[in-house]
Amino acid sequence: MNEIVWKWVVRNTRDYGKADPKAVVGKVIGEWPEAREDLPRTMQLITAAVETAAKLSKEQLDKELSAFVFEQRKEKARHIELQGAQQGNVVTRFAPEPNAYMHIGHAKSAFLSYEGAHGYGGKCLLRFDDTNPEKESAEFVEAIREGLEWLGIEFDGEGYASDKMPIYYSYAEQLIEQGDAYVCKCQKEEMSANRSRKKGCECRNRPKSENKELWLEMVAKKMDEGAATLRLKGDLHSQNTVMRDPTLARILLAPHYRHGTKYAVWPTYDFQCAIADSVEGVTHVLRSKEYELRDELFYTILDRLRMRTPRVYDFSRLEIKGTVLSKRLIKPLIDQKKVSGWDDPRLPTLFGLRRRGILPQAIKEFVLSFGLSKVESEPSWEALLVENKKILDPIAERYFFVKDPVKLVVAKPTNEVASVPKHPSVKMGDREIATGSDFWIAKTDADALKDGETFRLKGLYNVKITAKEDGLVCGEFANKALIQGSKKIQWVPAIDKWFVPCEIIVPGDLIVNEKFNPNSLETDKGYCEKACTYLEEGIVIQFERYGFVRLDDAKKMAFIYSC
Ligand code: ATP
Ligand code: MG
Repeated sequence: MNEIVWKWVVRNTRDYGKADPKAVVGKVIGEWPEAREDLPRTMQLITAAVETAAKLSKEQLDKELSAFVFEQRKEKARHIELQGAQQGNVVTRFAPEPNAYMHIGHAKSAFLSYEGAHGYGGKCLLRFDDTNPEKESAEFVEAIREGLEWLGIEFDGEGYASDKMPIYYSYAEQLIEQGDAYVCKCQKEEMSANRSRKKGCECRNRPKSENKELWLEMVAKKMDEGAATLRLKGDLHSQNTVMRDPTLARILLAPHYRHGTKYAVWPTYDFQCAIADSVEGVTHVLRSKEYELRDELFYTILDRLRMRTPRVYDFSRLEIKGTVLSKRLIKPLIDQKKVSGWDDPRLPTLFGLRRRGILPQAIKEFVLSFGLSKVESEPSWEALLVENKKILDPIAERYFFVKDPVKLVVAKPTNEVASVPKHPSVKMGDREIATGSDFWIAKTDADALKDGETFRLKGLYNVKITAKEDGLVCGEFANKALIQGSKKIQWVPAIDKWFVPCEIIVPGDLIVNEKFNPNSLETDKGYCEKACTYLEEGIVIQFERYGFVRLDDAKKMAFIYSC
């Protein structure tokens, strides 16, 4: 324990001049969770170490540091078993299509791929899957990058599928020359009717040389969109409909966000992905289960081209009760302005979760807990929120908030300035709160108080109720003694400038009975203490006996309920 404390204190001192015990405690607990059990002692050790480290020179600090190994956090043992994996030689990839912002389902895919490779000392690549010019944009590329950075995933390589166009073209030509692919001029409807009837069309029998000519015409932009496609000569009788002469490339004239109008023929996902995975040295492809039927095509394409073949794993798609985890379903909510944008706190997008004060580490724990299992489950948000609370508990400051305030008037008050600790067990300092005879307490607390009852204004003193009227509670100062097990109530002083009106946005289920829930956003209103006006926007704190909240807008004193 001492060593872990020392290690993080030294590092924090080196990075910031003097270490901040609050920043260190999170790291220590992360690496050694037992440190949470006796937090006061942990804090004592940290504070002492901070003082010692402050006396060291930069050289001495560097020397101390060189003795330590820094893993971000001691992870739960969660090895992801990959068949045929050789230590040091595993390559995986995360391949998002930049046609939307990331959601937590993508985070599952990204973390599994990352951890899958790194568990074997391998590499994980990021590849923007951008070979559909119609839907993709640089805005989405940037948003995905920002999301991944926020998650803390550092890839070992990065690229764009669209930068490999000449490679797809050359393999397409190889397939044509081998007689494994042909140019089809049938219309979409005809094609799909033939496929379901297991019937080939005339184009299938076109000589290779003609196919080659037509292909070159396609590539040279001499054909209109929809005029022709390149299809694999598959198996028209296969039970797997994917294998019935699937499309490998098609004409799309929309300008590409990266390559403009340079290319008119674009590979389909199946063709592009197989080639890119093979040439980039990917050994294990980890993707969600809806692609399962496409695995056979993936292997067939590479087999016909006699290319190196990665192993494909299909894991279950993440679904969460009360929300939608698919871009296709999230996008319309944004377009129709049912939610405020990609970062609406009701959304399961990374930016929505971030605004809600959900921490990347909680997302990681949550999504990795499902592993590579194919079992479909529909967990609720609860498991994620529990993870989040665990991480926030030792690091979030505590403040008072009273919802729907009711006035409490105390006779014979002490008029003192109360010093209330910002955390019950971790040393984070105190906040000062002036007091007089008038207080605000939450309506639910006021309602529950009985005439004659004694309760404690938390951190201050005990009050005996002397009268209750509608909207007003009267009491008198009883004593200061802390009585074990007595009722404790949060409060703010009803003194000008010592209470601050604030609101808390409470996100609820986005989807109820498979439809958008128009009541998915509620707002709690009340007063918080003055110390909250010094908080930095974006911070997550705990309103005692209310929950963790993130300060979303410091000007408006608007918080978002987290967990
Ligand atoms: P959506 O279905 O949300 O439109 P997508 O599959 O089209 O998403 P991509 O950008 O192509 O989105 O996905 C990148 C990776 O994320 C893929 O490997 C895909 O399997 C995975 N993925 C997408 N949604 C989920 C999910 N809900 N759970 C797990 N993995 C997912
Ligand atoms: Mg996709």
